[in-house]
Amino acid sequence: MSNPRIGVLALQGDVREHLAALNAVGADSVPVRRHVELDAVDALLIPGGESTTMSHLLRELGLIEPLRARLAGGMPAYGSCAGMILLASEIIDAGAQGRAAVPLSGIDMTVRRNAFGRQVDSFEGDVDFAGLDGPVHAVFIRAPWVERIGPGVEVLAQAAGHPVAVRQEAVLATSFHPEVTGDRRIHRLFVDIVTEKA
Ligand code: GLN
Repeated sequence: MSNPRIGVLALQGDVREHLAALNAVGADSVPVRRHVELDAVDALLIPGGESTTMSHLLRELGLIEPLRARLAGGMPAYGSCAGMILLASEIIDAGAQGRAAVPLSGIDMTVRRNAFGRQVDSFEGDVDFAGLDGPVHAVFIRAPWVERIGPGVEVLAQAAGHPVAVRQEAVLATSFHPEVTGDRRIHRLFVDIVTEKA
């Protein structure tokens, strides 16, 4: 089988790092900014950045409904940090009205934006991650956490008593940023999910 074609939503954030990480683990990765580009990919990675800014751009580009439709249709996706927020079905502290982060409902979960930010803006630490051999060094940057999960959602990692990595079917989300470490296991897991689904 040929390599899966995985898009990286390229509005803002760590786009280049994710493209490189996906290529390193056997995907053909491409930036996605337009509806036609979304139509051409098997799966989508939504990077970290600022979820309110990304939501504003998604609105301007007319991408919200196409993204919701692809996710509802079972497209595999992975969201990191701001990407986790956008993949939620409900967002707490989503931001000011008219500028709020928009839930795309890839995973049945409620996410609290900037959850850790009240105590500390950024921190890192090792977290156990279900299915991976050995802990993941997790870098949290103004990160969200998960406050509620639906019945079909599996918790893969926790920190500070909250889920920080979850999966529902072919959609994966982490509060932290695997692209800033050299560890490619989470990108590999995502590519494996995409390949299985294909
Ligand atoms: N706090 C940011 C947001 O609300 C997320 C931070 C990040 O992606 N590193 O989108």
